[in-house]
Amino acid sequence: FITTSYRDTWVEVDLSAVASNVARINDIYQDQAALMAVVKADGYGHGAVKVAETALANGAKWLGVAILDEAFELRDAGIEAPILVLGRTRPEDAKAAADAGVSLTIWEKTWLDEAAKVLKEQPVHIHIKVDTGMGRVGVTTADEAVQLACALTRLDQFVYEGVMTHFATADEVETAYFEGQHEKFQTTLQQLEAEAGLPPVVHSANSATALRFPEHCTPLFRYGISMYGLLPSDDIEHELPFPLERAMSLHSRLTQVKVPAADEGVSYGASYRTSGDEWIGTVPIGYGDGWVRYHGHETSEVLVNGQRCPIVGKVCMDQMMIRLPNEAAIGDQVTLIGRQGQEEITIQETASRLGTISYEIPCMLGQRIPRCYK
Ligand code: PLP
Repeated sequence: FITTSYRDTWVEVDLSAVASNVARINDIYQDQAALMAVVKADGYGHGAVKVAETALANGAKWLGVAILDEAFELRDAGIEAPILVLGRTRPEDAKAAADAGVSLTIWEKTWLDEAAKVLKEQPVHIHIKVDTGMGRVGVTTADEAVQLACALTRLDQFVYEGVMTHFATADEVETAYFEGQHEKFQTTLQQLEAEAGLPPVVHSANSATALRFPEHCTPLFRYGISMYGLLPSDDIEHELPFPLERAMSLHSRLTQVKVPAADEGVSYGASYRTSGDEWIGTVPIGYGDGWVRYHGHETSEVLVNGQRCPIVGKVCMDQMMIRLPNEAAIGDQVTLIGRQGQEEITIQETASRLGTISYEIPCMLGQRIPRCYK
């Protein structure tokens, strides 16, 4: 492991899992479709630069980020691959993107007018976003897409590089809405082709689409959650073309172990009361690390010496307590996410404990927790 932290709480990222998840999906598509590794939000909490380097070394051709700052982090690390910013960039920042060779996503005609004022010799590469039913960003009619495409091809400051959409329900068993979005995108593409021409990079697929609907993945697909070994949703587990390898685990070490007297309070609000004969361990992680207070909920568990142990009392900012089945030593490893012996706590289990989706858990873990790579 590579780490320079003085802390006994760490995230482990298995880059060979990322490598395998990228290589396995690439095996399916071969030369038919290029993979854009989506590394926004610090690589879904795994570390954008390390994940990007691993994905590129295993066949990814593009990188996707949400904001321009994330693109610059990759460029600063020496990564030269094409990068697309998926969210909105301010038009006045178009020159910074052009100079760094970063492609931008747009959906407003006025954006082009504003950006044209700041751009000099270096043109910026543009992808038009079409909103086919996500209801988030994008042009909502084919006519608007055509207007943008015509403006792009007319103006020297821009390169008409891509057109894209994003699916809202690709991970659901019911596919009618997904197919409706696909239809709308196809109609827009047909009109674009007839009235303005198509750019080289047309893309719509996310992980769920790439795993389930290969016909929607050429020439490019945007691969996020499943690159990290996670399912877009539990509902499609039986449809996976190959097993995903989970990249992230989360660990800590006991800092105190004791048997408090009967009816002692544990944590703020004396929110847990001891019975007098139970071992209580302290774990140095808390909501200041993104290990939110709700983990103090009665069914939350961690692993120590291969056994499940409940979290007891409220989670504090930097620490929490657990009930151990028997004596353990200061320094014993606590696994909050990951495997110990026969037992495993997955990100999926952690997410359902909090009533959320797998995506949110790795993104929530704060920068104060060092990421260690193997
Ligand atoms: N494309 C866009 C526009 C996104 O916002 C995202 C993620 O939210 C992705 C692709 C990747 O999706 P997934 O992580 O489900 O593969």
